[in-house]
Amino acid sequence: MYLPENLELLYTPDQIQQKVIELAEQISIDYVNKELHLVGVLKGSFIFLADLARALRGQIYVHFLHASSYASTQSTGKVEIRHGLRLKNKHVLLVEDILDTGLTSSQIIKDIQMQHPASMKVCTFLSKRGTRQVSVETDYVGYTIDNHFVVGYGMDMNEKYRELSYIAYLKDAPSDND
Ligand code: 5GP
Ligand code: MG
Repeated sequence: MYLPENLELLYTPDQIQQKVIELAEQISIDYVNKELHLVGVLKGSFIFLADLARALRGQIYVHFLHASSYASTQSTGKVEIRHGLRLKNKHVLLVEDILDTGLTSSQIIKDIQMQHPASMKVCTFLSKRGTRQVSVETDYVGYTIDNHFVVGYGMDMNEKYRELSYIAYLKDAPSDND
């Protein structure tokens, strides 16, 4: 496993896969006999969603929307959402890579709610502790982490590191804990 010098390992591929299986087990139970519409938030959730989708049982549909609020390693607070989804009367599960300020997800949730889905829940692989500017109700959370800027498993820094099969944090990124 190649780990660049500026990165510190946080979760190994095995730890990630084990958590995905756990999440998928719970979600499969909760949505038994229901058609589930996964809505992934691009680009960060593309790998998590792909793993989750393959671990779920039952009928699922996959959608993506595009949201961006980050410039480099800091949230800009301005959220841009792009999609053409029709989710009226559907069971929707929003799939996020990571929750930080909560600004992106809360905006997306409002957006989806306006379409009157049959139900709407939120699944995030990572959740940062102590960083929310708005509260977001999360139904499925993989790991809760300290306030580090993380990369890998779909998550980037200026479009780099998305392909890493592990999750790492940047040793020298600005962080409130430093
Ligand atoms: P929020 O709106 O909750 O502050 O941030 C939501 C989005 O910002 C996440 O879905 C993710 O795409 C990006 N983000 C937040 N924290 C991190 C992080 O530590 N690393 C990376 N690569 N992206 C992050
Ligand atoms: Mg994201």
